[in-house]
Order: sequence, then structure tokens, then C-alpha cells
Amino acid sequence: MPWPINTHIMVEICDTNDCTGCGACYNACPRAAISMQHDDEGFLRPVIDAGLCIDCHLCPRVCPANNPVTKHERVGKPIAAIAADMATVKRSSSGGMFSTIAEHIFADGGVVYGVVMDEGNVAHHTVARNIDELAPMRSSKYIQSDTRQTYRSVKQDLKRGVPVLYTGTPCQIAGLLNYLGNTDRSRLVTADVVCHGTPSAKMFISYLHKLADYRHIQYENIKDFNFRQTDTWDIVPVFYLNGDKITLQRAENLYMRLFLSGRLHRPCCYHCPYATTGRISDITIADFWGIGEKMAFHYDTKAGCSLVLPNSDKGKELFAQISGKLHYEYRSWEEALKYNHQLHTPSRQPRDRATAIKAVLGSDSIERVNYIMFNSPAKLLQRIIRKILRKLHFIH
Ligand SMILES: Cc1cc2nc3c(=O)[nH]c(=O)nc-3n(C[C@H](O)[C@H](O)[C@H](O)COP(=O)(O)OP(=O)(O)OC[C@H]3O[C@@H](n4cnc5c(N)ncnc54)[C@H](O)[C@@H]3O)c2cc1C
Repeated sequence: MPWPINTHIMVEICDTNDCTGCGACYNACPRAAISMQHDDEGFLRPVIDAGLCIDCHLCPRVCPANNPVTKHERVGKPIAAIAADMATVKRSSSGGMFSTIAEHIFADGGVVYGVVMDEGNVAHHTVARNIDELAPMRSSKYIQSDTRQTYRSVKQDLKRGVPVLYTGTPCQIAGLLNYLGNTDRSRLVTADVVCHGTPSAKMFISYLHKLADYRHIQYENIKDFNFRQTDTWDIVPVFYLNGDKITLQRAENLYMRLFLSGRLHRPCCYHCPYATTGRISDITIADFWGIGEKMAFHYDTKAGCSLVLPNSDKGKELFAQISGKLHYEYRSWEEALKYNHQLHTPSRQPRDRATAIKAVLGSDSIERVNYIMFNSPAKLLQRIIRKILRKLHFIH
């Protein structure tokens, strides 16, 4: 189905199913005729104001769904890396690559774009102009970030000759590159994360309300939610309640269980064109899951280990410049791909995605959603059948 659905408009930006919500069209519109609005599932989508649109057709032109960005094909060998400064690793999701690259950019007089959470538990891109402003960008927020007007801001920085590091999901990097077009990019470094897929902020906030009800606390008392422990290498979320650190497990960890099983992703994530070894950014960062399993890795990975792919010449040069601040080893592609499926295949769309989203956004309690999604007799039977089929090698 074409997007937008506003029938007065002549312009179709892209197919609804392919829209990543990157915001390239929104940033590019010369008349501010496009706004990013939430759809029923809470995902941001461009909506054109017919009264303001001048039919210039810039929006479909900058859209990466219509004009795919050229990929760097397997130009760098995978690297397992950990920041030599353990304090950095303990503040980061995996091996602290983001902070190490960011510090290098600051040292060069540059600025860093990344994702922070606001008071309302909404993730969005913003700029850090010094190391203090970098702190809230650390750690993965497993919801789709709103890029807002950061593409415009990057263009202004580049025009002033300021070095820029822009980090985000691959689709957000694609949006930026298309938006920038012929702008001189010699001072721009892009770093994408390998991306499993993204739920919407609305889903996350709805889950937090359920969590508050389950614990008989006020939603506002859930402070500093972090999707991952950063001092260990786990995907176990934590938050603070009256100053105490609370670790979320079992029933309470509903959100991550649904996210990791791919049930809450944006529709385009299930046919993501960026889930490949060919990458569009200068450097790709991820978790090096399974490192040392087959072949010894010689550094301590208790607090995390990054998978790094320097993709472009610029990415390789950057890695060489920061390598003195890292413990690292070159590793095989086989090892890099084994547990990082999003490097070769998009997340599979589970058949019960719609049920999961309805349950998360609805008024059911955490216990009830857990029951519907995981513990009902039908779900238990499905799990037993899948286990048997897996043992018989009929499915993976
Ligand atoms: C939605 C999402 C899905 C991911 N899926 C995978 C995966 O399947 N496999 C894998 O190996 N790694 C995945 N990652 C990447 C991983 O979680 C780490 O972010 C990455 O390894 C960087 O860790 P670090 O220690 O270098 O940096 P950290 O200090 O942890 O920095 C986090 C970096 O991620 C960026 N970031 C944080 N939240 C978002 C967001 N919502 N959208 C865009 N950028 C964001 C920040 O701007 C910063 O650059 C995913 C990240 C996100 C955000």
C-alpha cells in the first residue's frame, strides 16, 4: 500500500511496508510539510500536509526505500575488540567501541550524534559536543529512536567543517546518507549497530505501566531503566526504585522476551535490506556473541566484547587510529556470523506478532500477557512440538 494515505497528496513517499521511519523525507522537506506521526502500533511515519506540499518530489527521492544506498561488500575482516579502559567497557553494552570512537572524534574537535532516552522514556537522537554529554548515549535502547532534525544539524556541522560521528541503526544511517546527497562528507564518520529490529516507544511505555502495576508502584518511580546490565555482558534489564537497583527477571522481563523473539518489530524489519555482511556505514559495531567458544580469545570478556567491522577505507583508517586504545584480535567470518543472525538474515516474523502487539498495547496485566504469549496450554503444546521437530532436524 502506498504511503501516505492522505488522498489529497500527489506524492507517494514509499511503500508503507518498507518505511523505516528514518525521517530523511521529514528532514528534507523544504516547506516543513511533513510531520512524523505515530501509527496504531506506535511507529513514526511521515504524514504530508496537503496545504503545505509544493509537489517538489524531494521526499521520495531522499527515501532509502526507493533509492538504496550502495553497500561496502565485506571489505574488512571481523575484529573482536574491547576498550583497554575497563571503566569504559563497564559503562557500555558490549566492548565499549562506541565510546572509544567517540573520544577520538572529540579529540579531533568533532561532535557525536547518538541516542538518549528522555524523561518520558522515549529514545531520540541528539548531539554530544563533549565527553559529559556522551554518557546518556551509552548503552543500547531497544526501541526505535526518533532521529528528529539531526540530519539537518549534521549537514550544518559538516558545512562548517566540524568532524561528525553519526551512530544509529543501518536504516538511520541510510536515511542520513541519502539526505546529505552531495554534501561534502569527508569529515563524516558513520557507525551502525548490527540491528535485531526495533519495537516502538509506545510498546515500551505500555510495558512500563504494566510493570508499575505489577509492582504496585507509580510509573514515575521507575527511574533510569537500562535494557542491559552494563558492568556484565548480559541482556538483563535493570531500573532504579527509590535508589535501589532492581534486576528484571522471569515474568517481569516480558518486554525483552518479546523483543528478543522478534514479536514487536516494525514491519520493515522482517525484510530488512541491511541485515547482510555488506554494510553501508564506515564501521559496524555489535556484540561478539560466542567469542572464544571455538578458538581462544585472549582477553577478559566478562563485561562485554564488541564485534567490529571496518567497512570503508575511512572505517579502516579510523580503526587503525584507535587500535592503541583497544585489546583486539582479527577473527573469522564463520565465528562472527554464528550467533549474529542479523548480519546475514533479517528477523523472522513470528506468526503471533499481531497478538503480541495487541497484548502489549492493551490493558492486560503482565501475568495475563505472559500467559497469552508463553504459558497457555496451546503455547506449551507448540513449544513441545517445536522441540521435537528441532530434535528431528525438521526445523532449526
Ligand atoms: C535496536 C538495537 C538492536 C540491536 N541488535 C543487535 C543484534 O542483534 N546483535 C548485536 O550484536 N548487536 C545489536 N545491537 C548493538 C548492541 O546492542 C550495542 O549497541 C553495540 O554493540 C554497541 O555497543 P558499545 O559497547 O560499543 O556501545 P554503547 O556505549 O553501549 O553505545 C550504544 C550505541 O548504540 C547507539 N544506540 C543506542 N540505542 C539506540 C537506538 N535505539 N537506535 C539506534 N542507535 C542506538 C548509541 O547511539 C551508541 O552509539 C543492537 C542495538 C540496538 C540499538
